[in-house]
Amino acid sequence: VSLPGVTGVLRRIVQVQAVLLVVLVLVSSVAVLSFRAADAEARRTEDVLVRLEALQSAVLSAETGLRGYLIVEQEDFLVPYKGAFGTIADHVTFLRPKLRGASAADLGEIEATMDEWRREFAEVALARQRADDEVGVLSLTSSGAGKRRTDRVRELVTSIGVRTRVDLDDQRADAGRRGTAGILAGGAAVAALVATSFWSRRRLQILVGDPLRMLAATAHQIGEGDLAARASGAGVAEVDQLASAFNAMAGETEATVAGLRELDRMKSEFVSVVSHELRTPLTSIRGSLGLVASGAMGELPTDAHEMLRIAVTNTDRLVRLINDILDLERIESGIEALQLAPNSLDEIVDEAVRSVEGTAQQAGITLATVPSGAVVQADHDRLVQAVTNLLANAVKFSDPGATVRVDAVERGVWVALRVIDQGRGIPAGKLESIFGRFQQVDASDAREKGGTGLGLAITQSIVERHGGRIEVTSEIGKGSTFTIALPLLQSPVPPAAPAPMGASVVLLVEDDLDLRDVLAASLGRHGVQVASATTAEAAVERSQQSPPDLLVLDVQLAGGSGFDVVRALRQDDRLREVPTVVYTVVDLTDEERQALRLGETVFVTKGQRTDERVEEIVLDLLRRRS
Ligand code: ADP
Repeated sequence: VSLPGVTGVLRRIVQVQAVLLVVLVLVSSVAVLSFRAADAEARRTEDVLVRLEALQSAVLSAETGLRGYLIVEQEDFLVPYKGAFGTIADHVTFLRPKLRGASAADLGEIEATMDEWRREFAEVALARQRADDEVGVLSLTSSGAGKRRTDRVRELVTSIGVRTRVDLDDQRADAGRRGTAGILAGGAAVAALVATSFWSRRRLQILVGDPLRMLAATAHQIGEGDLAARASGAGVAEVDQLASAFNAMAGETEATVAGLRELDRMKSEFVSVVSHELRTPLTSIRGSLGLVASGAMGELPTDAHEMLRIAVTNTDRLVRLINDILDLERIESGIEALQLAPNSLDEIVDEAVRSVEGTAQQAGITLATVPSGAVVQADHDRLVQAVTNLLANAVKFSDPGATVRVDAVERGVWVALRVIDQGRGIPAGKLESIFGRFQQVDASDAREKGGTGLGLAITQSIVERHGGRIEVTSEIGKGSTFTIALPLLQSPVPPAAPAPMGASVVLLVEDDLDLRDVLAASLGRHGVQVASATTAEAAVERSQQSPPDLLVLDVQLAGGSGFDVVRALRQDDRLREVPTVVYTVVDLTDEERQALRLGETVFVTKGQRTDERVEEIVLDLLRRRS
């Protein structure tokens, strides 16, 4: 079906209204003309009545003129008598074409009777009077021959008058009817015109307004992220075309976005696979190097120390880079849900300060914090990570002797945490770009300061996922101030439970033998007894024989998986509550974490924490258990 065009619709509306307008004009003209015709006819009838009256008085003039002369015998009296005939003739001439039927016959009779009256009575009487035949005049007048005739004439005039009056009433009624009909017809035409205006409006709304509104709603829907939304066409052809073009565009966009998402997914997958694959060997390398460097494998020649230091430094850098890349992917993709809880900002700052304290001390930099008492809804570890990044940068880019200050001020519903340094500052042109990936002010920063260029990107992502903002102001040579604004939470933090102390046997479930050996060696240095298993089955068997004090569990095992181990240990009362460190390359979902919990369980991603940190966690858990 072909749809009407907007011009077609408008033309149609204009046509209908024009026709109605013409009808309106015609109807009112006809009504006015017809009323005026009826009215004019009534006026002519009124003229007839006036003439009839005049005719009556002319007859009377003739009569009285004659009578006067007969009495006083003065010629003057004959003037109206003589004049009356002319007048009567005029009236008759006027009336003749206007009267019909009985009235026309009556008029003829009036004319004849007057003529007769004049010839046989008036002129005879006049002649007798002039001849002084008074007896003759008397006998003529008393015979009633004159009066009978004029009475007859009067009678005729009256009856014409009566008929004419009836006609006049009819004509007036007719004019009234025509007037009313005209008004009604005009009113009907106006009403029709008004009705078409409404009809036109409704039609335009259905054909143009509504489809356009729906198109706008669809555009809005797509804008909100519902890329599958499509406009339904119809309405006028133009809107239909617009809707088709819009849908084609939306289809293109949807396909493009789907393509981009797929690309993004592939990129993330690639990055994550590569990084994971690099992580495990790197962790072993780092562990082995650490052990060798610590002298645990025997004394080394002096030159070897320097080589080892370079190897360790660069391995650390590589590990940091891989961890940062994976971290950024994880945070930005939103795979990992934030573990939100009320957190004291002061405690978070303290923890961050503790992790950079060593570096700051070495660099001769003082760290000064001002407690704020603020409480925020946050993922503890992530927020510590963000603050640590800012602190580490501040320390990194400050000269010895400088102070790095941390404070927090409440601004309405926000708290603004500031990390203020007196370091080298950031050029104005770089203030925004440094939050981008791999963006550094100086190309040598990565090499000299050991940075990856990802720290601020990670920090920004963390802050934004908390519903906050990050900003920086800086002055070259004077220092920089990084501000994290977070929504405030007013409720107080529950106090942390005090941790007990203790130690004993650790079961290492790990199929990467290099990594197992490195871990065993480093834990062994702290007097911890280490047992190991490389398959799930062996791990379960070993645990049941003699329950360990702690389990270090890899998820992917040569035989079975960490999940199988946990499932089996949960069946055993003695093992259900074993503290566990899940040490894995895979990023775990919340459900997976749930399925891997035994007693107190800590999740550590391989390479993300240094081996020293894993050691610390293991020792800490053992101490708490005793
Ligand atoms: P990096 O790992 O290089 O520190 P970041 O993303 O944390 O990566 O920082 C990006 C760059 O921003 C740094 O390389 C440095 O050039 C600049 N920068 C960050 N913080 C500071 C600071 N406090 N003072 C001066 N420059 C800074």
